[in-house]
Amino acid sequence: VFDVSAPFLSRLLYRQERRYLHAVNDVSFSVPSGGCLSLVGESGCGKSTVARLVTGIYPPSSGQIRFAPGRSGQPLSAQMIFQDPYASLNPRWRVKTIIAEPLRELKLRDTEALVAERVAELLGIVGLNVADGDKFPHEFSGGQRQRISIARALASEPEFLVCDEPTSALDVSVQAQILNLMRRLQDELGLTYLFISHDLSVVRHMSDQIAVMYLGRIVEHAETEVLFADPKHPYTRLLLETIPDVNSPHRDRKIVAGEVPSPLSPPSGCTFHPRCPLAQDRCKTERPNLETKPDGARVACHFA
Ligand code: SF4
Ligand code: MG
Repeated sequence: VFDVSAPFLSRLLYRQERRYLHAVNDVSFSVPSGGCLSLVGESGCGKSTVARLVTGIYPPSSGQIRFAPGRSGQPLSAQMIFQDPYASLNPRWRVKTIIAEPLRELKLRDTEALVAERVAELLGIVGLNVADGDKFPHEFSGGQRQRISIARALASEPEFLVCDEPTSALDVSVQAQILNLMRRLQDELGLTYLFISHDLSVVRHMSDQIAVMYLGRIVEHAETEVLFADPKHPYTRLLLETIPDVNSPHRDRKIVAGEVPSPLSPPSGCTFHPRCPLAQDRCKTERPNLETKPDGARVACHFA
């Protein structure tokens, strides 16, 4: 007999969440150096899990994640940028202390004067002032806080950034500013990005390639132009229809019908079949493989 106390319940939920988060299968892709691959899909599709696998927060239960050597011949260094910068910035630290932490931790600068110089340089790189270093995170807007977390991520001079919905919590205009900043930094610093978003319009101008995920699997993966010109998977087409038309901002957004089923008990066959407008009997029993089409797109659909 268990004493069903609160800690026991929270452990159960935690274990369930771990199973949920680990539901990613047969995901395979490579990101060329200096490129940007985006993972797109609704919440619960496994994008964040892939991000955490890539950055080593979770170990894969099978398969492997390989990095080419970095510029210096050392193992390539990766950093992660999160959706909610406020949650990842220590509220009691001044911004200069937050940005200096990796420099001090990794002993990247020998003297405090050199640390301060590098912090000033990082603030400038992300479009903030040196005086902003004396303020606390709560004194900034959401967009500025994301600039602070980008500066902190860049402090250790990573070559690879994993960005998990970095602009989802921001207003559309601020979102565009942060995306422009990230593109400029990619060019100037030669960064490689794995970019994660639920919104195809956000990743369109960032990405060389896009992989659309559904219930823990990649269902379509193509070069960005190919994906937008000729989307082949019914789920990709539905996601594209949910992008608001900029010419008629008041038009209602179409929403993908139905909810994402629980990854703990995925539907049989093609897991998209309960929501797919093109589903046929075969889809209920037979899982489609990811197949490469003549234009290079990989698609998992019997009728693509
Ligand atoms: Fe739809 Fe069938 Fe294609 Fe799955 S395999 S996406 S259910 S048509
Ligand atoms: Mg997520």
